[in-house]
Amino acid sequence: MRIDVMGVGFDSLTLNEVVTEALRLISEHRSAYVVTPNPEIVMMCRADENVMDAVQKADLVLPDGIGVVYGAKILGTPLKQKVPGIDFVQALMGELSQTGGRVFLMGSKPGVAEMAAETLRNRYPGLTICGTQDGYFKDDTPVIEVINEAKPDLLFVCLGAPKQELWMQRNASKLKVGIMAGLGGSLDVFAGTVKRAPKLFQKLGLEWFYRLMKEPWRIGRMMQLPKFLFATIRERFRRKR
Ligand code: UDP
Repeated sequence: MRIDVMGVGFDSLTLNEVVTEALRLISEHRSAYVVTPNPEIVMMCRADENVMDAVQKADLVLPDGIGVVYGAKILGTPLKQKVPGIDFVQALMGELSQTGGRVFLMGSKPGVAEMAAETLRNRYPGLTICGTQDGYFKDDTPVIEVINEAKPDLLFVCLGAPKQELWMQRNASKLKVGIMAGLGGSLDVFAGTVKRAPKLFQKLGLEWFYRLMKEPWRIGRMMQLPKFLFATIRERFRRKR
């Protein structure tokens, strides 16, 4: 059962439960897909029904950050915990490296996926990085062919939101992968081109603040967060009446 946060249904699971479910989906081998909406993406869903549809049809919908967790709390239907996409994928790769799992890295600027592959090979020696592809291609078909030939258990889809969500929904039936996940800037983090906030910021739920200091041009997009929180408060009062 999913918990509704402003029209988007989220799976309320711990990180361990999410990984168990992801491994089950991989074993089914039907190109299941995972989305990790933050408040900004929830607001995009409310503004565009195609994005809403792509998000709602995902096999796992994970709350990527503290904003959605607060929203659910305000609405009186709390989620178990935040499960950022990057935490999810690291935990999953930890498991896959035990069994020689195969990972394909798609997205970000040319060269980034290759740098991320270096990091991941060092960090998870048991893992096979079976292919890389930048995120600025025009035609899906040849890319899908390369991915299918590489036979990944896990496919990173790092095209930014909502491009990656729409891409996964559109191509799921043509792909032959275990599972794929829309992971935004994760390849940039593994490549070292973007730094994640220090642990303390993550613990305090202030990762967004760190990111804003580093990339101040994000302010426009981040203004969706207060809008989102106001909307949840309004919705809470509406439900009470
Ligand atoms: N990106 C891409 N293709 C595109 C647009 C964006 O590969 O057509 C990449 C971009 O290089 C960056 C990532 O998608 O690595 C978006 O990262 P961001 O942190 O902005 O993710 P978001 O917050 O939008 O999910």
